[in-house]
Amino acid sequence: NQAWLLASRPHGEPVKENFRLVEQPIPDVKDGQILLRTLYLSLDPYMRGRMDDSKSYAAPAELDQPMVGGTVSEVVESKHADFQQGDVVLAQSGWQSYAVSDGNSVAKLGDLPHPSWALGILGMPGFTAYMGLMDIGQPKQGETLVVAAATGPVGATVGQLGKLQGCHVVGVAGGEEKCRYAIEKLGFSACIDHHRDDFAEQLAAACPDGIDIYFENVGGKVFDAVFPLLNTAARVPVCGLVSGYSSRELPPGPDRTPQIMGGILKRRIRMQGFIIFQDYGDRYPEFLKAMTPLVEQQKIHYREHMIDGLENAPQAFFDMLKGKNFGKTVVKVAQ
Ligand code: NDP
Repeated sequence: NQAWLLASRPHGEPVKENFRLVEQPIPDVKDGQILLRTLYLSLDPYMRGRMDDSKSYAAPAELDQPMVGGTVSEVVESKHADFQQGDVVLAQSGWQSYAVSDGNSVAKLGDLPHPSWALGILGMPGFTAYMGLMDIGQPKQGETLVVAAATGPVGATVGQLGKLQGCHVVGVAGGEEKCRYAIEKLGFSACIDHHRDDFAEQLAAACPDGIDIYFENVGGKVFDAVFPLLNTAARVPVCGLVSGYSSRELPPGPDRTPQIMGGILKRRIRMQGFIIFQDYGDRYPEFLKAMTPLVEQQKIHYREHMIDGLENAPQAFFDMLKGKNFGKTVVKVAQ
């Protein structure tokens, strides 16, 4: 039983010394418990926040314990009435190959094109995209929608849902290959590479009627380029700020808070943060009902960035935070 423990908390960007790989005995199963073997481990940006011990919407990951994370797992032994050996479930086993659970927060998977999709398009990131866009973004035919991290599981889903609502969708992504994919495969009207020196000008040119919805995934210079283009009554679902998750200091001045607040006031911009399960947990069935047929009919495309082997989890995690992933980052832990 291999496990990656959280060995120390990062100062700024996470490094490999923050994790420690250990071999542990496979735990015994008591009455009312199940033994889970991890098939797939999800790697997500929120994990960076869990490595810190600052106050947040969720408790920090504990030092010297397996790093937290969502998994698709197989029940290999059951002393629990609701589960049988062989069941494939969505669980929170973390970065380890086996875990014991009392069945809380474990859900049997229904029919899926692939079990690992329960960690992406038909799971937490897809749910985030759906609720953030449909409930907060309120897309309407003909409006301009901008989304960054446009080829990741949240951004790609937001953009494709926006297209289905009749929006002019402009993606922002890191690199030409990702941008080409966003246009050719995901059907976005345009996609701008944020590494370009003329990124802000390119973005403005791709949004000739301004921006009605900005789905905020990254913050930083993308937000800076978007903000002046936001139209009156624009909506901004604030989903994530991944460009700053490892920042230790405020960016250099001048302080632009008055300009930003003035813009929000005069243009009556509505910005709303949300934490998916806290705010929308009870609407998960609605999401699955809407999203499953779209995925099955290939009206929404989904791409995974699959990494082989639990030993490679930390590097894959660092890479994802830096945009070296291309699609949803998933670690294949066992067959
Ligand atoms: P992704 O798989 O898209 O990975 C993050 C991506 O962010 C990278 O691939 C990279 O894409 C982009 N990125 C990283 N640094 C920068 C930067 N400095 N400037 C611009 N882009 C950058 O992640 P997800 O789809 O899983 O998550 C997207 C966002 O949604 C995250 O902020 C995450 O925290 C948030 N989230 C929020 C939830 C909530 O409940 N509020 C729930 C789930 C996710 P590229 O190479 O294209 O730049």
